[in-house]
Amino acid sequence: MWAVRFFKRKAEAHAVAVYDTRPSPDARPPFDPYFVAMCECGWLGRARQSSEEAFKDAYEHDPNVSKEIRLAAKPGVAQRERD
Ligand SMILES: [Zn+2]
Repeated sequence: MWAVRFFKRKAEAHAVAVYDTRPSPDARPPFDPYFVAMCECGWLGRARQSSEEAFKDAYEHDPNVSKEIRLAAKPGVAQRERD
């Protein structure tokens, strides 16, 4: 999973954020948008239908959660498209 590899290079401190992951207009095949919590320690939550569920996952992992929903990083989407 690209996100785990990406975040493992960073510090071990817990900093969780919820990501809004949706396909780019030219994604082949398109996939359903989902929300997922990720932590800088390398922890990754499950793909969720709603941001509420993803935030619940995030807080169960660590209380240091960013309140802002972030858009998923483009490189991950691009890599997914190539697979
Ligand atoms: Zn963590």
